[in-house]
Amino acid sequence: MTDMKDKYIQVTENVFTTLATRKEFRGDLRPANTSLMTCISLPGELVFVDCGMNIAFAKEFREDMEKHFAKKTSHLILTHMHEDHFMAMEVFKDVKIVAPEIGVEIIKPDVLSPPEDIHIQLAKNAEEYSDSAEIVSTINNGLWFLPNTPYANEMTIGPEGHELVIKVTGGHSKDSSYIYSAKEKLVCTGDNIVSSYAQYVFDPLVIDVYRHWESLDVEHFITGHGSIVDKKFISNVRKYFEELFSTLKQLKKQNIPLAEIATHPDLPEYFGRKEKGWVEGGAMHTKWLEFVIKVWYEKFT
Ligand SMILES: [Zn+2]
Ligand SMILES: [Zn+2]
Repeated sequence: MTDMKDKYIQVTENVFTTLATRKEFRGDLRPANTSLMTCISLPGELVFVDCGMNIAFAKEFREDMEKHFAKKTSHLILTHMHEDHFMAMEVFKDVKIVAPEIGVEIIKPDVLSPPEDIHIQLAKNAEEYSDSAEIVSTINNGLWFLPNTPYANEMTIGPEGHELVIKVTGGHSKDSSYIYSAKEKLVCTGDNIVSSYAQYVFDPLVIDVYRHWESLDVEHFITGHGSIVDKKFISNVRKYFEELFSTLKQLKKQNIPLAEIATHPDLPEYFGRKEKGWVEGGAMHTKWLEFVIKVWYEKFT
């Protein structure tokens, strides 16, 4: 039998994670190729967090984990309802698919009656998806459906001492949530933290989320995209946004035009530029960072 450590990233004795994409797309930094899929083994069941967009890969990971732990899957938890995290959920239609109610409501109209041109919309979005053909066939084959276990704000799964606490916080999207395991000293952050390119968050409340994570006894933060980071990374993200907000407020007072804001010399240096994997000028790095800075600048009055 293949050693799972060669195939996937083992985070703790009971947790594996992996890029939720086929090998040929690895190293291609488009978002759908960098989202993560995680398996947490509880005493009598397996719980997965997010499933990416690639049905064949999600199936293989699930089967490998069920074999490795000799347990059955009970839940798939979706951190938020963005395509790059849930399009392969067909693989989990036999178990509870847990998702924030607010996110389920947002995608409901598109799932119940996909817009005529949704295939074209998605296929056009080649900057985000290198495998748009797969998404189109998922939709065409009716393999896109609503999660069967929506929850309002918070939910707990698993027996005493092994609980997974799931909470909706907002931040990156209205329905952004995270999963916390005290036992594994682990948080699955969803897209409120990404390590493969610039942070993509738009709600000031996210600072409180980061502060809360910093207060937890957690060693492993499995990000929405990229890899696993430590608490220092979370602190760096929080400090960056705190500095960014105070600088942008000052610049607003000086009426700096929006077009000049992203390159203003007073802005704090984005810490991610020093991290492994940063590509200066790569679309999802520099471009997203500029976009995020502009959105925040426009928020401040
Ligand atoms: Zn997202
Ligand atoms: Zn994402």
